[in-house]
Amino acid sequence: MPPAVKTLLVVEDELPILRFLRASLEESGYRVLEAHTGRAALELAASKKPDVVLLDLGLPDMEGLEVLKRLRDWSSAPVIILSARGQEPDKIAGLDAGADDYLAKPFGAPELLARVRVALRHVESADRAEEPVYEHGELKVDLGARRVWVKKKEVHLSPLQYELLAYLARRAGAVVSQRQLIEKVWAGQEASAESVRLLVHQLRHKIESDPVRPKHLKTEAGIGYRLEASDE
Ligand code: CA
Repeated sequence: MPPAVKTLLVVEDELPILRFLRASLEESGYRVLEAHTGRAALELAASKKPDVVLLDLGLPDMEGLEVLKRLRDWSSAPVIILSARGQEPDKIAGLDAGADDYLAKPFGAPELLARVRVALRHVESADRAEEPVYEHGELKVDLGARRVWVKKKEVHLSPLQYELLAYLARRAGAVVSQRQLIEKVWAGQEASAESVRLLVHQLRHKIESDPVRPKHLKTEAGIGYRLEASDE
């Protein structure tokens, strides 16, 4: 059986951007639904159950963030925020409100398609019960066995270092905010932005051949961190 066609809901009120999104996505074999307002987006999301939602933050009838919050009440479909330059605080608020990733305008088709593939892969690995193995270049993380290798040599991490790496590996390819890390990795315990920076620094020394120029664990300036997507 051929794999089912994936349906993407594109929520965007600027028609040139919408046309670009539709053309790029349809050319890659996705089915595209479009909404020009927040209200239409919520109705379509409920009736058509899209696999991924691409959400512009500035909509004519309501804030994109409000759409995201209402959607998250009942849907766990990945949401990729489309944000304009200078909307850093909104990007962070979006990630904290349950978005999975963001794309900063202007972006090209290859970047768009790469993020969509990452989002769909997250859905698929969440559907499969077994824990995936993350592999990127010389770094390998077995999330079921809780083991880590660099250049085929096993690396031993502290429990907190492992939790950070595992959380990023489960969301590999997507950006994660500092606040998400504090909530998920420290699980409600006392932690600050400085704690996150320190833990990232320690982890890089264990998994990167050059911690100053990391190949796996990238900093997203002003937002948080991104572990590069797993090799295909
Ligand atoms: Ca807009």
